[in-house]
Amino acid sequence: MRWVSRAKPWPDNAPGTWHVDTGCIDCGCCRVVAPSTFGEADDHAFVREQPSSPELLHRAGMALVACPVHAIHGEGADLRAAAASFPDPVAPGVYACGFASAATFGASSWLVVRPDGNVLVDVPRPVPALLDRIRALGGVRTLFLTHRDDIDGHDKMAAAFGCERVMHAADRCAASEGVEHYLDGDSTLAPGVDALHLPGHTQGSMALLVDGSYLFSGDHLWGRGPRGWVAEGAEGGLGAGRSVCWYDWREQIRSMERLLDHDFAAVYPGHGRPWTGGREARQPALQRLIAWMREVS
Ligand code: SF4
Repeated sequence: MRWVSRAKPWPDNAPGTWHVDTGCIDCGCCRVVAPSTFGEADDHAFVREQPSSPELLHRAGMALVACPVHAIHGEGADLRAAAASFPDPVAPGVYACGFASAATFGASSWLVVRPDGNVLVDVPRPVPALLDRIRALGGVRTLFLTHRDDIDGHDKMAAAFGCERVMHAADRCAASEGVEHYLDGDSTLAPGVDALHLPGHTQGSMALLVDGSYLFSGDHLWGRGPRGWVAEGAEGGLGAGRSVCWYDWREQIRSMERLLDHDFAAVYPGHGRPWTGGREARQPALQRLIAWMREVS
């Protein structure tokens, strides 16, 4: 029997051959991969501007293959080339894995290439070609799981790479069975690779701070887009989500205050946009966010 999708194009898509359909789960992945093409409405993504150049078409194609629920449709992109562009370099030694999984609500995963062993932060969809390209970049020594929501498929990564999995003990659950290392607080995983316990979104939420530059923040903290993805504050600033705080908002505020003591220049989250504001902007952006978090607590 032929499967027929009941999803329809959202009416707010810009006219043209590309559209997002009503199957979208608003994970934000397409807006990270192709921000010029995909915009943010109340509960979904939409095509805000049709891709008009070869580069934009390529990025739109990357978003199409990365979408966890196949809600993006369009013509003219070389999807084989788009798929082969993941892992996508976003900073020195940092790659976006794309290929989000519906089982993690489309959470982004990141590969950090290190001379003493690569770290994969959270779990991408286990697409064989992606796994081959990760192998070509040196494979994975450590799979760092930021929090319990985004761990589905960790066993497949462990089987593919023989990596050791790390997460916080407070987020241990049936789905984490097989994880080799449970942490009970901050921990240095390797020189320049520090796991920070930041409870709030979940009790065991952690972030990974690499070389005092890159913070892989899970769902604790993200860059704020035009709508804010459930956070207030200036566009281009940092955001957090009161309505998606599953454990304790006041605890999350205290965790945010702890981050004031840590230097970083960029944030790569599970959901929401990356933030690349730089070291100088970090303190004021965090302070604005903390002030807003206190207001809504
Ligand atoms: S990647 Fe897919 S599911 Fe996620 S926001 Fe975009 S269209 Fe929606």
